[in-house]
Amino acid sequence: MRHDIERILISQDRIAQRVRELARQITADHTPPNLAGDAEITIVPILTGAFIFAGDLIRQIPLSMRIGILTVSSYPGASLRSQGSTVIGQQLAHVHDRHVLLIDDILDSGGTVNLVHSQLKDHGAKSVKTCVLLRKDRPTAKAMHIDYVGFEIPDEFVVGYGLDYNDYYRNLPDIVTLKPEAIARNSK
Ligand code: 5GP
Ligand code: MG
Repeated sequence: MRHDIERILISQDRIAQRVRELARQITADHTPPNLAGDAEITIVPILTGAFIFAGDLIRQIPLSMRIGILTVSSYPGASLRSQGSTVIGQQLAHVHDRHVLLIDDILDSGGTVNLVHSQLKDHGAKSVKTCVLLRKDRPTAKAMHIDYVGFEIPDEFVVGYGLDYNDYYRNLPDIVTLKPEAIARNSK
């Protein structure tokens, strides 16, 4: 797996440091008086890609929280560009009348975050904030308001730290680009 890596874009140490900073900021923003009412949030990670990021992040947010789950498919199988986002499963019982923090791995076209944001509003969320680990340098992604962004990255296909290619590489600790031969070999 290691020899499939073309370039390490963001090392695990840099990710860990940035996750700590994001957690501190999210905690402060969701603690009264910054937040009206209870210091309680519902976290909604978009699966599968956000599961590692969300797992690391929420263990550093010492607030009362519940978790909602949404699974979205946008890069089915061996695709390198979004094919449009579809919700393929959800458990959102704790969203109604709550402050929600939506977490995704990466903002590419922005379609996934837009889709889920409106679904959370439809489920009666009191407020919805958005957090992405990575934002690609694409006009639509740059134009969107996102409350918490981990890193701005170039418009390249990346894997690792939860992000996959054809469901492989999610367990890489760094965020990396792949060699063309690795993409070709894993495309089946
Ligand atoms: P969007 O809907 O913003 O175009 O795409 C967001 C989703 O596409 C992300 O949740 C992620 O699953 C997937 N995605 C976008 N860019 C990349 C990428 O560079 N690598 C991987 N592995 N997935 C990506
Ligand atoms: Mg995703």
